[in-house]
Amino acid sequence: MNTERAAGEARNAPPRHLPIRTCVGCRAQRPPQELLRLVCSPAGEVMVDRTGRAPGRGAYVCYDAGCLRRAWQAAKLTKALRRPVRVSPFAEACRQVEALLRERLQACLGMAQRARAVVSGHGALSRALAQGTVVYVVRAENLAAPRAAAYEAWCRRLSIPCVSLFTKEELGRCLGKPPRGAVGFTEARFGQAFAAWYARWQRLQCAGAGLEAQHGRSI
Ligand SMILES: [Zn+2]
Repeated sequence: MNTERAAGEARNAPPRHLPIRTCVGCRAQRPPQELLRLVCSPAGEVMVDRTGRAPGRGAYVCYDAGCLRRAWQAAKLTKALRRPVRVSPFAEACRQVEALLRERLQACLGMAQRARAVVSGHGALSRALAQGTVVYVVRAENLAAPRAAAYEAWCRRLSIPCVSLFTKEELGRCLGKPPRGAVGFTEARFGQAFAAWYARWQRLQCAGAGLEAQHGRSI
């Protein structure tokens, strides 16, 4: 009887609260951690929330250049943020998003380094690739072409991703090391975290015909 009552109560219980937010651009509903958060400065200017935890009301947008472009309008954001706001030119939104994503991607590299889940330097990375312990490779944008092609070919053979991002100097700095031509993640969870941010970075590439020309309107 008690069991029956408990089962009945469970059926009648309100659903567990799961936070859901709506994209201002496309109205899709997603958990907040899957969305870009926009906030309003005390001066009334909309800006990208770099931490995701800035105080005050937030407006949410998919990690998608199209959604960001549709959302980046004073009228829509005034409604979403429930206060009069000004928006800077769309190019400024792109600049802020790019900075946020670069920070997140660099943080993934730093965390993996602290967890000893990356290998870097040509010798160490080559050995790890030969041993099959690498799950994801990031090669520097300014890596010499022949070596870049060699990493690409090696990763293709191993069926692992190889993306080109950051300069050698930036890659080294993320790891607290001298410049690095390429870095390999050796633990899937770090590779997956990086891949998720990289996918967002790709979807938010704002450089496109006419996008920068669209200026924000003030109200
Ligand atoms: Zn959207």
